[in-house]
Amino acid sequence: MFFIGGITQGSKEIAYRASVFVCSRCGRYGKYEVFMTYLCLSLFFIPVWKWNRRYYVKTTCCGSVYELNPEVGARLARGEDLDIMPGDLTFVSGGNELPAWQNPVRQCQGCGYETTENFTFCPRCGQRLEERRPE
Ligand SMILES: [Zn+2]
Ligand SMILES: [Zn+2]
Repeated sequence: MFFIGGITQGSKEIAYRASVFVCSRCGRYGKYEVFMTYLCLSLFFIPVWKWNRRYYVKTTCCGSVYELNPEVGARLARGEDLDIMPGDLTFVSGGNELPAWQNPVRQCQGCGYETTENFTFCPRCGQRLEERRPE
């Protein structure tokens, strides 16, 4: 019998009705982006089992990453409309030490274009992209 399968780590963005707040790390205005990561067992390329779900929040201002209270994360993933409170967040890393599942943001010094793709040059104006290093 053939066994074609594997375990992969996935990540998924969760819709969050983002409201603007003042970031406690960089002092600028930012929004939360919510992600879920999980391990996924696939058989014959069909995902059959997901586990080890973890929820993360990234700020749009400086890219700081927080781990989100899993209860709150699960409720957001179900589409519930609730606010993320500072007490639900555990600081993981600043913008310059992102977890492996996430690329750093590169920003063009010429036109301000931002991308998380692994580009060296700006696709819009051709200038060299700089990795954004807050703090
Ligand atoms: Zn910030
Ligand atoms: Zn540019």
